[in-house]
Amino acid sequence: MDSKNYTINIAHLYPKLLNIYGDWGNVLTIKKRCEWRNIDVNIDSIGIGDSIDIKKYDFYFLGGGQDQQQIAVSKELQKHKTSLQEARDENAVFLAICGGYQLLGHYYQPHNADRLEGISLLDVFTVAGDKRFIGNVTAACEFVEPNSLVGFENHSGLTYLKNETQPLAYVEVGNGNNGKDKTEGARYKNVFGTYLHGSFLPKNPHFADYLISLALHKRYKEKIELVELDDDLENCAHQSLVNKKY
Ligand code: GLN
Repeated sequence: MDSKNYTINIAHLYPKLLNIYGDWGNVLTIKKRCEWRNIDVNIDSIGIGDSIDIKKYDFYFLGGGQDQQQIAVSKELQKHKTSLQEARDENAVFLAICGGYQLLGHYYQPHNADRLEGISLLDVFTVAGDKRFIGNVTAACEFVEPNSLVGFENHSGLTYLKNETQPLAYVEVGNGNNGKDKTEGARYKNVFGTYLHGSFLPKNPHFADYLISLALHKRYKEKIELVELDDDLENCAHQSLVNKKY
């Protein structure tokens, strides 16, 4: 693969508002895993009031955040709802974590507060639960090999999948979407939502590479094989969390 000719453009959405638990580490992981392969990466931080040129971007990232920050982002995202749905339908890759994930669904209904409208990239909805799910998660994901994903959850929102929305994974340890149906996260086309903080991608390098491949395919309309990296450290971090309860 002569990767010097390849580029990925990333839109990091509202990092000043949605970035708890160092979720921006996910963007850093995509950046480094591309640069280690001589793939150029351009990252634009998109703030409140900024325009989003969907013709430019291959990959969109949205981190997690508390209800207060979600209110501001929910309002702002409505301005871009149609164009981001168009980006989804053109196979752009989206990765959204926790609070960001909730806003890619139809809505998030907090306790004793107005409903936060999402942008319906995923056919899911979220309602506030009575307790907070906090702890490590191990889940089985059929899109990647090895098929385990690990991370840390901290949310009170309960997310429910509708119609053909696939779960990202099935919970083995932890709660995932709602602590009841054993699903974790959601996928539709190349839109991925997850409750896994940590950050998520540094400890799941195989999933990071899966997203990079999808973003390259979206841009270049061909399957591009990625050069193997030495992931001993990343895999050691992954294994240390597999089936870890506390
Ligand atoms: N406020 C949302 C919840 O508690 C999301 C929290 C988060 O992003 N960690 O469910």
